[in-house]
Amino acid sequence: MKRILVTGGAGFIGSNFTRYFLNKYRDCEVINLNKLTYAGNIDNIRDLLEDKRHRFVKGSINDEKLLQQLFNDKIDYIVNFAAESHVDRSIEDSLIFTKTNIVGTHTLLEVARKHGIEKFIQVSTDEVYGSLGRDGLFTENSNINPSNPYSASKAGADLLCLSYYKTYKFPVIITRSCNNYGPYQFPEKLIPLMTIKAIKGEKLPIYGNGQNIREWIYVFDHCRAIDMVIDRGKIGEIYNISTGEEESNINIVKEILRLLNKSEDQIEFVSDRRGHDFRYALDNTKILKEIGWKPIYNLKDGLNETVKWYEKNQNWWNKLID
Ligand code: NAD
Repeated sequence: MKRILVTGGAGFIGSNFTRYFLNKYRDCEVINLNKLTYAGNIDNIRDLLEDKRHRFVKGSINDEKLLQQLFNDKIDYIVNFAAESHVDRSIEDSLIFTKTNIVGTHTLLEVARKHGIEKFIQVSTDEVYGSLGRDGLFTENSNINPSNPYSASKAGADLLCLSYYKTYKFPVIITRSCNNYGPYQFPEKLIPLMTIKAIKGEKLPIYGNGQNIREWIYVFDHCRAIDMVIDRGKIGEIYNISTGEEESNINIVKEILRLLNKSEDQIEFVSDRRGHDFRYALDNTKILKEIGWKPIYNLKDGLNETVKWYEKNQNWWNKLID
């Protein structure tokens, strides 16, 4: 039986991953550690609370004592999702990003190193590479060049992870994914925010001219990729996780409005985000070839599923908006 510590497992990707993992493996135990910040929500994992293989622990990756206690039982894998994750918030108030994303990850690395584990997966982001022009893709060998306090804090955590591999041969693997979307995403991120505003008949505020480009992955595909990296990933390596499906923010929003039969008159352009990166796009050759992963969902189908989920689960997001 494998025991896995999932941090941030009541957030968006972490809750999807916890559900995915428990469904896929009968013989496993998930310890789900979450601080329950504004972005942690017990409703995201309510269906998993009765499952004896799932143990929810309210607490922080910064709490060394608590982490030591969790290691009283042998832990085989750690997947570190816990983070402050919203760029806009990092522009307004960034210190907590350093505390959680850098110091928290460092604390977790240190406790795990002392106890010994099989694999530590650091869930990172394409944003650490910085911005691209119209052409080109970032590979795992590209320089990191983050633009905002969020991406800088994630880059800092990545460097600590790599240093633990080089210094201690600590079994860490870094995954860098493009933009996720899907069920249970907190309604401050583009797709849930715009979907909810569209459903409510409100204005949809789009930064700048809406031409900024992101690459999109359905959260379920990201969870599958992480699971495969746990299984087949090489220690000390970085794996980009991406789909090749690039789209501008304005086209994403227009598609959401189309799916909901709403008018594009709801769109409203607002002043641009400070330091707004123009384009992120990843080369995913390594994960395709070395891990054998490829996405199942295309953007059209994934977005359709997602919009339907937010239409159906208004109780879930109404509570958060209140
Ligand atoms: P999220 O904000 O929905 O979830 C993060 C979770 O971490 C929250 O539930 C929060 O309560 C928890 N948390 C915060 N501080 C904590 C602490 N000190 N200890 C324990 N838990 C803490 O974010 P998400 O979108 O699910 O992202 C998860 C991870 O994936 C993050 O590390 C993020 O950088 C990375 N990532 C996200 C995306 C994306 O598009 N959402 C893309 C690439 C990488």
